[in-house]
Amino acid sequence: MDIGKNIAEIKQTLPEGVKLVAVSKKKTPETIMQAYNAGHKIFGENKAQELIQKQEELPKDIEWHFIGHLQTNKAKYLAPFVNMIHGIDSFKILKTVNREAQKNNRIIPCLLQFHIAQESSKFGLSEEEAHEILDSDEYKALKNVSIVGVMGMATYTEDEQQVRNEFRFLRKIFDKLKKEYFPRKKGFKEISMGMSDDYQIALEEGSTIVRVGSKIFGSR
Ligand SMILES: *Cc1c(COP(=O)(O)O)cnc(C)c1O
Repeated sequence: MDIGKNIAEIKQTLPEGVKLVAVSKKKTPETIMQAYNAGHKIFGENKAQELIQKQEELPKDIEWHFIGHLQTNKAKYLAPFVNMIHGIDSFKILKTVNREAQKNNRIIPCLLQFHIAQESSKFGLSEEEAHEILDSDEYKALKNVSIVGVMGMATYTEDEQQVRNEFRFLRKIFDKLKKEYFPRKKGFKEISMGMSDDYQIALEEGSTIVRVGSKIFGSR
């Protein structure tokens, strides 16, 4: 498995400005270093504990993205260093991240995760829940989180049209939120969608961040 080559091949297919998060969950620091030494510095993890350990061990110029479901009691460990939190799926976690970011004198970029798949197992907000958050005075008072876009995971299915429809739905949500809540915020620009099996479809539907694991590092 030539990790550097895999990354280069994926990057070649990305439109300008699209970011590749190399999903390194369950992979060892040595394996991550192969990607790092090939010049890649953006990694994603979905378990807080694992991310914290790897961050301690690995070079400090790595950009770490947290892509999983974040428990409130773990936010304080990520707040000092995490570059982006993709999976904001409740008001409670957003408020917790804000509080911990404040303690670290940081503003943490966050994505609102939406439930776009048919599977009930995947986390995420409904549009209604997002409106409740964004309309509230409590949200408007949060100074240490910056909502920079949306994130979603499509259903795990062979049915490409279904996957495409789900990504298209997320894109629509993004467009609506942009218009309603962030019309003058240049930073609100990210649509995090697409994994190893579906990132090409996601790109066609407007993804700006793809999160690719097994296609880079092999199966887990
Ligand atoms: C594991 C994971 C990925 C990457 O999955 P692959 O199919 O290995 O590319 C992307 N996003 C999230 C949220 C994940 O948990």
